[in-house]
Amino acid sequence: MANIGGKLAAGLCALALAAGPASAAERARNVILFIGDGMGVSTLTAARIYDGQKRGVDGASNVLSFETFPDLALVRTYSADSLVTDSAAGASALLTGRRTLNGALGVTDQIKFADCASAKGQSAPTLAEQAKQAGLAVGVVTTAAITDATPASLYAHTPSRRWQADADLPPEAVEAGCIDIARQMLDVPNAARFDVMLGGGQANFVAEDGKRMDGRDLTAEWRQAGGLYVQTGTELAQVPKNGAPLLGLFAPNNMMRDTARQATDTDAPTLTQMTTQAIERLAANRKGYFLMVEGALIDKAHHVSLAGEALNETVEFAKAIAAAAAMTDPKDTLIIVTADHSHGLTINGGARDSSILGVLQGNDDDPPVALDGRTVPILMYATGPGAPAAGEPRSVPSKSDIDDPDRLTYAAVPLMSAAHTGEDVAAYARGPGASKIRGLMDQPGVNRVMREALGL
Ligand SMILES: [Zn+2]
Repeated sequence: MANIGGKLAAGLCALALAAGPASAAERARNVILFIGDGMGVSTLTAARIYDGQKRGVDGASNVLSFETFPDLALVRTYSADSLVTDSAAGASALLTGRRTLNGALGVTDQIKFADCASAKGQSAPTLAEQAKQAGLAVGVVTTAAITDATPASLYAHTPSRRWQADADLPPEAVEAGCIDIARQMLDVPNAARFDVMLGGGQANFVAEDGKRMDGRDLTAEWRQAGGLYVQTGTELAQVPKNGAPLLGLFAPNNMMRDTARQATDTDAPTLTQMTTQAIERLAANRKGYFLMVEGALIDKAHHVSLAGEALNETVEFAKAIAAAAAMTDPKDTLIIVTADHSHGLTINGGARDSSILGVLQGNDDDPPVALDGRTVPILMYATGPGAPAAGEPRSVPSKSDIDDPDRLTYAAVPLMSAAHTGEDVAAYARGPGASKIRGLMDQPGVNRVMREALGL
């Protein structure tokens, strides 16, 4: 190397770094992965417009908190068996670095969906488990049931995402030795316990008013083993910071969307409150932490054609990311914001100042009329329950019902629950190793970036 010119040597070094493990500057103490469930690019565009308009500023030029992060990639999301992934296979790709079948969690692609025997010996370790083994603190925060596919991708290894409580397990799965997702989360040795787990899904952990057939109360067992357990926002705000692991279950199943939480005055924490609590607790660990935060209700609202609600949940998600960014140092904390898959939301046009939830306006406030004699909605879905019944005309929003959170947005093809869509999703990154989030990536590649940043 001695007779190689300085410039060339520096060039070789740079190449070696790009191909090899993370350099010191790319090593992160902490990694936070934010997954906006179903948060496709059109959802992001519509949400930034919605957010700006709600705050009385120009929507089109508005930005959501994480849209200012310096590094950005497009991510291919297909699963091992489908052009369009579901949350289980998508989140598994992010957490294990391998693609699996739709509906499966934390297993290889050598299994059959919902076939317990086929999953024997096919577990794939997750980043959360690897981080825990390396002495990092681990947290999971979601607005869904904490046994739902995305949060379960941190700890569950199962051929079916549906097996959330033992009541969901078919007899042949029990016989073949499969264990429900709630037990996989809490019924583990103390050393493998996560440090913070916040979300919904209480019903899967208890027999009384719950779904457990084995009569167990996993929350009581958790407390007996020294864990803290909270069930309201007030309890979460007051929970002692004594280093004990924390479980918070704030709803029987999924948590409420933020508009419903506010309308009913429910004592449940916001996604931002759960996120900041989690970071405060995890940051006490000397070796650093891995945290996954899911904005789950973006997807749930899209599935039922509630576009305004999906956008509002995206804004809530962006608030949680802003809080996390403000509490952490970009010198030691890698934050990645991405989605597991997209949803078929389209933006059909609209004057610069049109409400994103309204209809196209023509001259003199005359809405343009489509060939079916009805107005053109600015937002609509490809599929979903917002489609009219067979033979019925499609509905269009009137000015008075634009702000109604329960108004269904038009969908072209009637489905009980909207289909996910297969176009690429975006990934935004800030912090050590963030520059590896660039170009066209594969979903398992995002796992590699996080793993290298943590040196795992
Ligand atoms: Zn979904």
